[in-house]
Amino acid sequence: MKLQLKSVVESRAEVGSQLTDPGDTILIWRHHPRWLLLKCPCGCNDVIPINLDRRAGKSWRLYGGKDKRISLFPSVWRDTGCLSHFIVRNGQIEMLSEREQFTYRWLQKPSFNLLANRVKRAWPHDDWVQYVEIADELDEVPWDVLDACRYLVKNGILIEGEGVLRSAFRRR
Ligand SMILES: [Zn+2]
Repeated sequence: MKLQLKSVVESRAEVGSQLTDPGDTILIWRHHPRWLLLKCPCGCNDVIPINLDRRAGKSWRLYGGKDKRISLFPSVWRDTGCLSHFIVRNGQIEMLSEREQFTYRWLQKPSFNLLANRVKRAWPHDDWVQYVEIADELDEVPWDVLDACRYLVKNGILIEGEGVLRSAFRRR
């Protein structure tokens, strides 16, 4: 979905009712970027205020803005209402699926770290192994082990197989 920048204004008082459709946005810029007001892309009709001002608490980094396509970092993840989770990249909104939302939450949990460590220790030294085999060995749910494997790939510990080695991993 496209992020539609409706206008750039100096204060919230000027916003009016310009946010009508999902993905509509208004940038509040007074000397520096302050807020991005975004009509939730999920269609729930909420307006999400995204703080861009580091001095005003938890904030997002804005790339582009007045005349360039907007990107935000990190992802926007609502903890109220529709709980939408999405990223804004080059003027496009990419919704993260339920599965990714779930994985994202799970990765924040201490129990995930414990599992990732066990998976790491259990992995044989120089062979491709299916994650299901490791899950069996550890008596864990395969999906959880798959998440742990992908996490270990991101951290440079495992590599993920492709083609005939699909769903197999090995140590880097
Ligand atoms: Zn929503």
